[in-house]
Amino acid sequence: MTAAKAMRRHAADNLPRASVPNRDQLTALQDVAARYAVAITPAVADMMNPNDPQDPIARQFLPDMRELEHLPQEHADPIGDDAHSPVEGVVHRYPDRVLLKLVNACAVYCRFCFRREMVGPGRGGLSPRALSAALDYIAKTPQIWEVILTGGDPLVLSPRRLKDVMARLTAIEHVKAIRVHTRVPTVAPQRITPALVKALRTDKATFVVLHANHARELTKAARAACARLVDAGIPMLSQSVLLRGVNDDAGTLGELMRTLVECRIKPYYLHHADLAPGTAHFRTSMTEGQALMRELHGRVSGLCQPTYVLDIPGGYGKSPVGPTYLNADGSEIEDFTGRRHAYPPL
Ligand SMILES: *Cc1c(COP(=O)(O)O)cnc(C)c1O
Repeated sequence: MTAAKAMRRHAADNLPRASVPNRDQLTALQDVAARYAVAITPAVADMMNPNDPQDPIARQFLPDMRELEHLPQEHADPIGDDAHSPVEGVVHRYPDRVLLKLVNACAVYCRFCFRREMVGPGRGGLSPRALSAALDYIAKTPQIWEVILTGGDPLVLSPRRLKDVMARLTAIEHVKAIRVHTRVPTVAPQRITPALVKALRTDKATFVVLHANHARELTKAARAACARLVDAGIPMLSQSVLLRGVNDDAGTLGELMRTLVECRIKPYYLHHADLAPGTAHFRTSMTEGQALMRELHGRVSGLCQPTYVLDIPGGYGKSPVGPTYLNADGSEIEDFTGRRHAYPPL
């Protein structure tokens, strides 16, 4: 039995009781699972509260029948990865940085994933030959300053394979920064072994970006896994997605950001949920998102403030989406309590 299979079997045994579906629902859920990958790790099963039908952890990982409702504005490639892929596994949208997608598998599959049409346990990853071609592209493109390992979750790879990729990236003189985007420290903390930490350590600036959407994901084991990385000199940032029913209130969002900072993880981005197929039940409006950011600004430390961003559909990149505190002509500025103050002209 493969590790992925074992994880899925364990997950099936550990589904929260409150969410056990009836026969009709089960058929519909099998349709969802046939369409989009499902996997839950033991650590995630343990995070769920089986007595809460609105559990914010279960909502992120258990399939929902609404995933089969696709809207016309939703898109299989919502942020336009394909439009900017010069070679297999590389997305080169911005001049100075590329995504390198090593694997298409994850330890868990988020129900709102913007790459949900591309990822899954059977989807493999880059072949050795494709990896060499991707690294050749990076090596012959001197404006690439940073390589972002994403996917899929790169930390499902063995320390040996990670070490190989890190060494080959490190050998490219113009690559000065390496970023690793992952859920593994929270969803499979036991994978953050000394060997894996060692594999990630290079003399280039290496950052690990944790994807986390609720404070309860930072369990004791998850905190210890993050501490192993940070203690080894690997700074951590976080990315979250604004999700209806998971973190769309200022209290929950503030607690998440504070918990991350307490784990020495600097909140980086709060993503507006992408237009991925079958994810409408997760999306808020951007006006709601801005109101939440305003509340966050009013209640928690600057260390806890992520930038609220939208990945513009079509492959145009990410842009901050506010809110703004300065009026159009720069004559008035709003403070953290909402009061407005005049600012003199030049
Ligand atoms: C998100 C993303 C990046 C990284 O963007 P930052 O703003 O530097 O975090 C780079 N390339 C692509 C294609 C992306 O989607």
